[in-house]
Amino acid sequence: MHPRSARAARHGGGVSAILEAEGLKKHFRSGGGLFEKPTVIRAVDGVSFAVEKGETLAIVGESGCGKSTVGRMLMRLIEPTAGSVSFEGQDLVGLDAAGLRRLRGEMQMVFQDPFSSLNPRMTVADIVGEPLWLHGEGSTKARREKTLDLLQTVGLRPDHADRYPHEFSGGQRQRIGIARALASSPRLVIGDEPVSALDVSIQAQVINLLEDLKERFALTLIIIAHDLAVIRHMSDRVIVMYLGKIVEVAPTASLYAEPLHPYTRALLSAIPLPIPGVRAERRLLEGDIPSPANPPSGCRFHTRCPFAQERCRVEEPLLRGSEGRLAACHFYETLPPETAGRALGPADSPAKARRLALYKDHRRRQEIGARPDAPIETTTPRGELTP
Ligand code: SF4
Repeated sequence: MHPRSARAARHGGGVSAILEAEGLKKHFRSGGGLFEKPTVIRAVDGVSFAVEKGETLAIVGESGCGKSTVGRMLMRLIEPTAGSVSFEGQDLVGLDAAGLRRLRGEMQMVFQDPFSSLNPRMTVADIVGEPLWLHGEGSTKARREKTLDLLQTVGLRPDHADRYPHEFSGGQRQRIGIARALASSPRLVIGDEPVSALDVSIQAQVINLLEDLKERFALTLIIIAHDLAVIRHMSDRVIVMYLGKIVEVAPTASLYAEPLHPYTRALLSAIPLPIPGVRAERRLLEGDIPSPANPPSGCRFHTRCPFAQERCRVEEPLLRGSEGRLAACHFYETLPPETAGRALGPADSPAKARRLALYKDHRRRQEIGARPDAPIETTTPRGELTP
């Protein structure tokens, strides 16, 4: 197997990776002086993954897990402390300014805050058309026409072109940011929390827009988010990060149906189950996320993990698994089964029936305190399992 393909497969991706990150680290130094050592903040601490052409990869985790830092390192908006990033086999970390400028046309970023990411003194036409001007594309007239086309593509009107960002709503400003990102005809777009600053009703519109644009322009998307509900319907694969490390990688449907890592389980338990009358048992994580300046020994999640054992405190778990499912937990194969009601398929599908049966079985065992493998009475009347 080609070394690139082997690496991509090891990181949970396929063989046609458009982007690969290998051993990516970002350590920030803070404080320090004549008699004091600086504190090293390990924002990202050895992250490797591959993104396949045409896929939508989500990177999720709580604030401070390092996901946005990863996004910025992929674009080289901040320099990695160690590791490499390659786009179609070309190393980004070693590129000079000219090479980077050229490659930036192929990779674009949509930022979280649609207001502060747009220059308030520039008109919408100037903001969207600036990348065209920077890349010396076409005449002034051609650039103007392309700008108006882009505005229409993202659902804005041509007469919006000569207005300023403050004249638009949050959702419209994010559309302007997306139009600008599309101006250089990129092949990869990284959305850093692209909808988290928007009202819930507007979030769905922007998500739909990103999905439409992905199809229309054959884009590859990386969506960075803290909310698993946001990426559920738009991503093909999910990377879960905790305290600067990847703890789980899985195809989206598998992750929602059966999360392997205890941290992923806790994140998913915060999402309401779409079963009428059934409330999910919410697993609140105890304690704050530890400081990346002083991460816990062994498994970084052991200070908050309900399944932690002595081995977890001393030995760091490797990211391991098969068939695109990876988890960094010593015991993920032997943990109690996760409730199986989270990824309901179409109504009355066999998959839904099976998951509901598993879910009911799991709840029944919880109620009577039965072990996962112990035989139990399975003729619970319908509706009895409502908590
Ligand atoms: Fe929890 Fe231990 Fe697994 Fe870490 S390795 S997630 S502490 S069970």
